[in-house]
Amino acid sequence: MQNLSTLNYDNLQIRIEGDPKESLNIWFDGEVNENFKANLVIIPDAKHFLINLSGLRSINSLGIREWSQFLQTLCQRSQVTLEECAVVFIDQANIVPQILAKAKVTSFFAPYFCPQCNIELNCKLSVVTHRKRLLERRAPQLIHSCGAELQFDALEESYFAHMDRIVSEK
Ligand SMILES: [Zn+2]
Repeated sequence: MQNLSTLNYDNLQIRIEGDPKESLNIWFDGEVNENFKANLVIIPDAKHFLINLSGLRSINSLGIREWSQFLQTLCQRSQVTLEECAVVFIDQANIVPQILAKAKVTSFFAPYFCPQCNIELNCKLSVVTHRKRLLERRAPQLIHSCGAELQFDALEESYFAHMDRIVSEK
């Protein structure tokens, strides 16, 4: 995939890849805070924007404001999909709905614990595969590679509180 540009801020890297005539992939790696300025990020036109948030480590209140502006502007230009949203992003999406703008979420991470291996791990949940269970605000049942059933490692009613926003068809 063609790398179009890489923008570096303090503790944040934004990588833009793809073919502008088709779909652009935008990767956020690091921290979204006051150093991230929505109006300084120039994104070329494209039919579709796919934003990967697996590398997002934190997002604070000033970052949320800039991010929401950034995403809203992008949604006005084309269809936007968010994939592999980090746990910190879902935590905030439960509090601040604007963080999603009109973007569609296809997958996100959720915290689990393996009682057999005694490790915490973030598991990727597909919105399509787990739709029913997510809308019931219940953690999908997952099996670890060791064969044990994973336990959800947060409060289901909090983490999945606003799944109607996240899972909804947009
Ligand atoms: Zn295990």
